[in-house]
Amino acid sequence: MGKKNAKLYRNLKRRYQEEGDMEALETARALLKEQQNISLGDRERLYGYIEGGGKVILPEPQPLLTPESKMPGLDGQKMSKSYNNYIGLREEPDSVAQKIRTMQTDPQRVRRTDPGDPEKCPVWEMHKIYSDADTQDWVQHGCRSAGIGCLDCKKPLIDSIVEEQRPLHERAREYENNPDLVHSILQEGREHARDAARDTLEEVRAAMGLHYR
Ligand code: SF4
Repeated sequence: MGKKNAKLYRNLKRRYQEEGDMEALETARALLKEQQNISLGDRERLYGYIEGGGKVILPEPQPLLTPESKMPGLDGQKMSKSYNNYIGLREEPDSVAQKIRTMQTDPQRVRRTDPGDPEKCPVWEMHKIYSDADTQDWVQHGCRSAGIGCLDCKKPLIDSIVEEQRPLHERAREYENNPDLVHSILQEGREHARDAARDTLEEVRAAMGLHYR
C-alpha cells in the first residue's frame, strides 16, 4: 500500500489497540478499502490484524451479484433446471422462440381485447431485463390498453434473447471443435487450484502450530 499509507495504518492500529480509539479503527478500515493494489486476502488479513483478531486466513466469501441477482424463469419463479422453467445458454433460436411463445401470461387476459396487467405476467419480468425503456413503455401501455396481443409482446423479447445468445453459440463452437484446448484449460485450472490450496493449507497449519508435512 506504499510507505506513507503503511505508516498511517500502523499509527491507526496503535491508536485503536492501545487507546480504544474507534475513530482510528473506522479510518483504518476506510484506508484499507480504498487500496487498489492489495489482494482480497491481504485486505482481510489487515482487517483482522488491526482488530486484534489475528490474521484472517480463510476470508468469508462474499457474493458477486449482477444488477439483476435473480433471473426469472418461464413461469415467473426463479429460473432453474429442476423447475424445468429455464432457457439454456446455448438453446437453439427455434427452441427459445417456442418456449417464450408458450409462456404463461396474465391469467386475467383471456381474450385479445381484454386489458392486462404486466405486473401479473412473467413475460414482463423478462422484459425488465432484456428490453430497453422504449420497449418497456410500449409493453406497459399496449398491455393495459389491450393495444397489443401477447404474441406481439413476446416478439421483441425473443429477438433480444436470441441476439444475446448468438456470441455464446459462436464462442462455444471454438471449444466444441477443439477438445484438446478444453483439456489444457482444465489442466491449467487444476494446477492453479492445487497451488492455491497448498498455500492456504500451509497457512492454516502454521496458524495452528502444526509443522509436520
Ligand atoms: S401483453 Fe405482454 S405483459 Fe401483457 S399479459 Fe400479454 S405477455 Fe404479459
